[in-house]
Amino acid sequence: MTQLELGTETIQTALSLFKWFHRHPELALNEFETTKKIREVLESHRIDLLPNPLNTGVFAKIGGKKPGPLIALRADIDALPIGEESGLSYASETPNRMHACGHDFHLTNLLAAAIELKKIEHQLDGTVLLIFQPAEEAEHGAEKVVNTGLLTDVEAIFGLHVNPELPTGVIGVKVGNFNAAVDRIFVTFHGKGTHAAHPESGNDVIVATGEFIVSAQSIVSRNISPFEPSVVSITHIESGNTWNVLPNSSLLEGTVRSFDSQVRAKIKERLQELADGIAAANGITNEFRWVDGAPAVVNDHRLTKIVERVAKKQGFEVTELDPSMGGEDFSCYQQIIPGTFFNVGVGCAHPVHNSKFKVDPEAFKTSIPLFVALVKAYFEGSASDGQTILS
Ligand SMILES: [Zn+2]
Ligand SMILES: [Zn+2]
Repeated sequence: MTQLELGTETIQTALSLFKWFHRHPELALNEFETTKKIREVLESHRIDLLPNPLNTGVFAKIGGKKPGPLIALRADIDALPIGEESGLSYASETPNRMHACGHDFHLTNLLAAAIELKKIEHQLDGTVLLIFQPAEEAEHGAEKVVNTGLLTDVEAIFGLHVNPELPTGVIGVKVGNFNAAVDRIFVTFHGKGTHAAHPESGNDVIVATGEFIVSAQSIVSRNISPFEPSVVSITHIESGNTWNVLPNSSLLEGTVRSFDSQVRAKIKERLQELADGIAAANGITNEFRWVDGAPAVVNDHRLTKIVERVAKKQGFEVTELDPSMGGEDFSCYQQIIPGTFFNVGVGCAHPVHNSKFKVDPEAFKTSIPLFVALVKAYFEGSASDGQTILS
């Protein structure tokens, strides 16, 4: 396998598309203009679009001219409710909307790779499914895509995310745990409100709330093995509205992050027990609600090694990343097929989800050929019974 390089025309196309997408950020499930633009670009290159029962997002297919496996490449396409302060000449044209997580980079990268793959379609020993996924930041986009049944018969899936902490030219990979499962909790304590000067005449839900906040922190330190990463964070509390009234109720909201499914279940169980126990001890009632988010991203060993090997061949420096307690719904695909999710360095002083976040467009020069090379390497590896690339 020789190093793939892009012509200046492809780079120019990618850059102008990237700027257009960056100017036009749209929130989860509202990516209508983005969807239209993606379809236009794919159609103009005669790439086959597939039916999509969802209102936004695009599915397409390249290859199938020769027998071979079906693999998927995924890019997310939604933006965030953030007012952009990047100072870019092509900054968001919509107030309080911004591509601050680099999904404009991801989708442009996949579009440009698709254009390149289409040029060599007759040489491909297999078929590539392109997934332009809506709603990664909210609204369970990956789960919706999986529920369409689109991924039946797909044998491997690849996805990437920009990483501002890595310089341009660096790829971050990790076998196994990559992103944590993201769950959400709500606890409400209900009691009998009373005069603050006469607490004995009612219940104090504020004290119960404080006990819950402190006790919840004991779960990770006392109930979970120190070798299993997990986080419980209470992030939102609401109760009362003045200084001399003990209120009737109190609400807590928070998030739980974990990798292992048994750890995840244990934390849920203990939070429920604590809420029940604290309510009983204070003579009040409670409601406990756990909302499952995306499971953990756990990268397939074989596919991660393919990315590592191809990235090195493409001239990238490859670094092994630590797992992140942040979530990614790429994990929904990994529930049904092997997949690997990796990071592309786009060197930026500001983190994702920051109003000053921006990517280095130079990164396209290497990330687009990387996606193309990955597809070719996978098919070549499969065609030669795995010996060339899959070892
Ligand atoms: Zn994000
Ligand atoms: Zn993201």
